[in-house]
Amino acid sequence: MKSRSIGFRLAAWYFAVFTCGLAIFSVAAWFAMRASVYHAIDDELRDRVRGVTQFMENQISSLSLLEIRDEFREHSVLGPGGDLFQVCDQQGQWLYRSVSLENANVAITLPASLSTPRFQDLQIQKHWLRFYSQRIVVNGKAYTVQVASLMNEAYEALERFRLILLLATPLLLILASAGGYWLSTRALSPVDDISQAAQRISIENLEDRLNVSKTGDQLQRLSETLNAMLARLGSSVRRMKQFTADASHELRAPVSLIRTSAEVAVQKRDRPAGEYLQALDEILEEAERTSQVVDSLMLLARADSGKEVSEASVADICGIIRGAADQGEKLARNHNLNFLAQIPEGPIWIQADTDALRRVLLILIDNAAKYTPSGGSVGVRFEARDGFAIASVSDTGIGIAKEDVAHIFDRFWRADKARSREQGGAGLGLSIAKWIVEMHRGSIDVESEPGKGSTFHVRVPLTSNEKDR
Ligand code: ADP
Repeated sequence: MKSRSIGFRLAAWYFAVFTCGLAIFSVAAWFAMRASVYHAIDDELRDRVRGVTQFMENQISSLSLLEIRDEFREHSVLGPGGDLFQVCDQQGQWLYRSVSLENANVAITLPASLSTPRFQDLQIQKHWLRFYSQRIVVNGKAYTVQVASLMNEAYEALERFRLILLLATPLLLILASAGGYWLSTRALSPVDDISQAAQRISIENLEDRLNVSKTGDQLQRLSETLNAMLARLGSSVRRMKQFTADASHELRAPVSLIRTSAEVAVQKRDRPAGEYLQALDEILEEAERTSQVVDSLMLLARADSGKEVSEASVADICGIIRGAADQGEKLARNHNLNFLAQIPEGPIWIQADTDALRRVLLILIDNAAKYTPSGGSVGVRFEARDGFAIASVSDTGIGIAKEDVAHIFDRFWRADKARSREQGGAGLGLSIAKWIVEMHRGSIDVESEPGKGSTFHVRVPLTSNEKDR
């Protein structure tokens, strides 16, 4: 089924709710009107019986039956509804009977059978009448007084009211529904504007933003949320583009080197075997470097896609650092550096992917060795403090300029491009290290002074729960 617009659905709901409300209101109003009409008429009938009773109590002993009838007749001419009135005694003898009731021969209940006052609605010769009969006792004798009121006007008024309700209800419904539809489409038109503006934004113009009307309502929040989302998407896309450009650039250099070495070797035939071997050595070296960059890129790509999940288990961090330090020592020796490791016996437990964490330390030791001139020192230290295992790798190397510290964990970032490339770095080591440390819910930072050296600190939470071990 084709789904309708929100504006239409809102108007439909509004119509349904309004219809129910109006129907309930109309029925209630009609019944309330009817009850109030009956109430007024019944009060008047009761008053008339009260008047007759008072008259009889005052006059019955002093007047004869004929005089009483005359008095009643007079009253019937003067009083409202006076011609609709009759009184009988306990034997059924008429004390008085107005002409119209006599003509219509309206029956009356004897006082003995009328324990409680009674209302009756009767139709007599096209006229609707409401009768009220009450038993009264005057001077020890019981009588039935019956009065009536012509209901035609009241019924006509009620009928008119019913017609007004029947006509007004659909009219109101139509007006209210049209108003509801107009209101809902008006209220939702900014949403259309927002979606049209959002449709115009694509990957080419991610810098564009939606207009934010300062209304302080949900629509303002919606525009702001979409703008914030666009900003996040924009920066991700920028990073992706940068990453792709850097990666291609990084791969182009070794590939062209490989190509050049191969071309030079092929161009001149009949060279001594030593020259071929040298060319092959260069090719191999560049191929190794390229495959390292490709490995790092693939690792980061998997990290970005969230597919690279580290297998964390309880491990002794002292053991991990010691393993890395052993490898680091050899590296330092190759670079003519002093190496100092201060690692406690342990065990000190953490939740870790052992290989990944060892890789972090190797990246740091490798950097320390790369960026420290020969004769300098590289140190690895460990301490457990404030619930964290803290491994530090320090060197007495070239250091990092203050303004560069903020960038060293960015992908492909190198302080000295030429020098770093010469040493085999693609600027990916620290970004991989940072990602691994963050996977361990830890952090990595650096203190450095240009010309004096750098110290990298890796913090990983200690395992606090005995059960984890
Ligand atoms: P690279 O492969 O170039 O070493 P990294 O991501 O490991 O890439 O490091 C990024 C940059 O940070 C390096 O190019 C270098 O400029 C700087 N850097 C990293 N470690 C050190 C260090 N111990 N001393 C001085 N500079 C460093």
